[in-house]
Amino acid sequence: PHDPAAPEDESELAVEGALRPGSLAEFVGQQKVRGQLQLLLDAARIQQRPPDHILLSGPPGLGKTTLAMIVAYESGRPLRLSSGPAIQHAGDLAALLSSLVPGEVLFIDEIHRMARSAEEMLYLAMEDFRIDIMVGKGAGATSIPLDLAPFTLVGATTRSGLLPNPLRDRFGFTAHLEYYEPDELERVIARSANMLGVEVPPAARDEIARRSRGTPRIANRLLRRVRDYVIVHGDQSTTSSTSTRGAAGGRAATESDVHAALDLYDVDAIGLDRLDRAVLDAVVRRFRGGPVGLSTLAVTVGEEAETIESVVEPYLVRIGFLGRTPRGRIATPEAYAHLRVPQPGEAAI
Ligand code: ADP
Repeated sequence: PHDPAAPEDESELAVEGALRPGSLAEFVGQQKVRGQLQLLLDAARIQQRPPDHILLSGPPGLGKTTLAMIVAYESGRPLRLSSGPAIQHAGDLAALLSSLVPGEVLFIDEIHRMARSAEEMLYLAMEDFRIDIMVGKGAGATSIPLDLAPFTLVGATTRSGLLPNPLRDRFGFTAHLEYYEPDELERVIARSANMLGVEVPPAARDEIARRSRGTPRIANRLLRRVRDYVIVHGDQSTTSSTSTRGAAGGRAATESDVHAALDLYDVDAIGLDRLDRAVLDAVVRRFRGGPVGLSTLAVTVGEEAETIESVVEPYLVRIGFLGRTPRGRIATPEAYAHLRVPQPGEAAI
């Protein structure tokens, strides 16, 4: 599915990895969740046991994988990375669980997309560190119990509502990550700019933060595009001076660099990308403000319903452009204003 916050390719993934905060102290924002995690980790350390299972929910790019890595790092345990779509059968999960070393942290991304049969195996594994392996078929089938090494499961999901209750209930700690505030994103950008060796003064930082959809991954990506822009266009500027050159060799980024770079990538003044605008446009123009059902909307913009629901809508709802009603999605006056479409009954200007 389309995910505007997803890293584009291998090299982008590598840079993203390099920009990941390595400890809770370096992790920007999410103050409440950080405090809760710290307590959980401290208690486990004092009692010398693996931390409780942790469920992290929230839109892509807000730091779920990063937090899983931090949990492993801060508790001094190895980390295993997997994902729901990679676990198609109970056997896949059995192989994974039985190969864990004692105390290992197991991260399962998109845990809501795991096979049903695996989910049931996971209940028992999380609770008793034990699984039952089915051998044979039909009347002759028997189950062989297998003890597992104790582990900490960190599950991530864009929508915790999609998880069956018995699974959700087995996490000792559940946290929902919220979109970041502009000042928090500015701190993410300042940190990353420093690591990338590009100089981004506060005004440019503020401009990138405002266009980052509340998402650190997007902030980092936009920053890299601004860096590219400065590297390519840097020398043409008359404001270039040796005193403002960053370590990457370019001059300091200006607000107009940010505008030029981000316009090139179809990121609008408030950070909406092409799919965000397509969804808004469909509700406003095609369905005259709604209400319109999710599946109709998905077909209209040619995107999967799950992507619209877990990636596009949460941000549009959060900034007050879209409302959810029992009869479907509706556009707010703010959405009309942003698209410069007169509202029904409003005289065209
Ligand atoms: P998710 O797993 O929720 O999709 P990630 O943990 O992969 O998100 O985060 C995406 C990128 O955003 C990471 O490379 C990291 O550099 C950055 N990031 C996320 N959260 C933070 C944060 N709180 N502070 C600094 N950087 C962050």
